[in-house]
Amino acid sequence: MFPWQQTQWSQMTQLLKTERLPHAILLYGNQGLGKADFAASLANAVLCQSPTSDHQACGLCKSCQLLAASTHPDLHYLKPSAPATSRSKNPVLSIRIDDIRTLCEKLNQTSQYGGFRVAILNHAEQLTLQAANSLLKTLEEPGKNVLILLVTAHTHRLPVTIRSRCQLLRFTVPDEMQSLRWLKDNQSGYSENQLTEKQLQQSLKFAFASPLSALNYLQKTEHQEILSAAMTASVSNKNSLDYAAKLTNYPKVKTLEGMMIWASDLAKLQSCGFDTAITNEQCRIELQKLAKKANQQRLYRFVDQLNFNLLHSTIAVNEQLLWENLLLSWDNLYY
Ligand SMILES: [Zn+2]
Repeated sequence: MFPWQQTQWSQMTQLLKTERLPHAILLYGNQGLGKADFAASLANAVLCQSPTSDHQACGLCKSCQLLAASTHPDLHYLKPSAPATSRSKNPVLSIRIDDIRTLCEKLNQTSQYGGFRVAILNHAEQLTLQAANSLLKTLEEPGKNVLILLVTAHTHRLPVTIRSRCQLLRFTVPDEMQSLRWLKDNQSGYSENQLTEKQLQQSLKFAFASPLSALNYLQKTEHQEILSAAMTASVSNKNSLDYAAKLTNYPKVKTLEGMMIWASDLAKLQSCGFDTAITNEQCRIELQKLAKKANQQRLYRFVDQLNFNLLHSTIAVNEQLLWENLLLSWDNLYY
């Protein structure tokens, strides 16, 4: 459990203590806040046979041993997967109706260890409509001692029928001080050198203030370097399209979000002056050069293009074409 989840944890353990834990909980909030880890900890606490006085799993009992080995028969974990027949490099990932039917059957059986039966659905927004409908009945009449935990960073993509049958548990980004303290304590193993406070702050900005995403960002500087090279190609006499193939090696949404940061920094420099604060401080000089030449109307069209792709990010596309297209639009801002 992470330090910024204390409130949510005491809320849940209070309900557990008084046996008022709801049968379905929707854990939601930005990416990179550790919601899935929280769900796993809650499942462990519920399934542990001798929890501690503050309702943490003991880590020693038979249940805890099975949980540590990921073989507890009363814990069912679902996440989006590719269809078995798919051969695509970037297949559409989803939680399908067959997965849900199998899950519901298991939840209807009696518990193997006499306690709760728990299901965790990670990235619940990837439930197909049929799968979501098939889950409704179990959400309505789950049977005794069933706990269903749905985890998502995109609540609005879940059908209202699902949302309304769950108790909502919201996770918010911690304040910067707490995040920086946590990043300082946890950066070793991710970066060879001790990073400066400024670098950590920078990573938090890129991660929209989510500490785990910031840590992830520190791990994946290579991706950021390629994106920076692609976005500054026009001011360094290189061809941005040369980077399109390389970008297909990284998560699509991360690249789209990265491009969005470049676009919003450019808009800020153009509208608020060249000294205004921006997210991508380390590329300020290149961004200033770009801001001098960029056509604002085309910039807004570029942002629309990014938004469209972010909204439809679960649809599989030819990623090389997508990056070529976007990089061309980006380069065309300057003509
Ligand atoms: Zn235990």
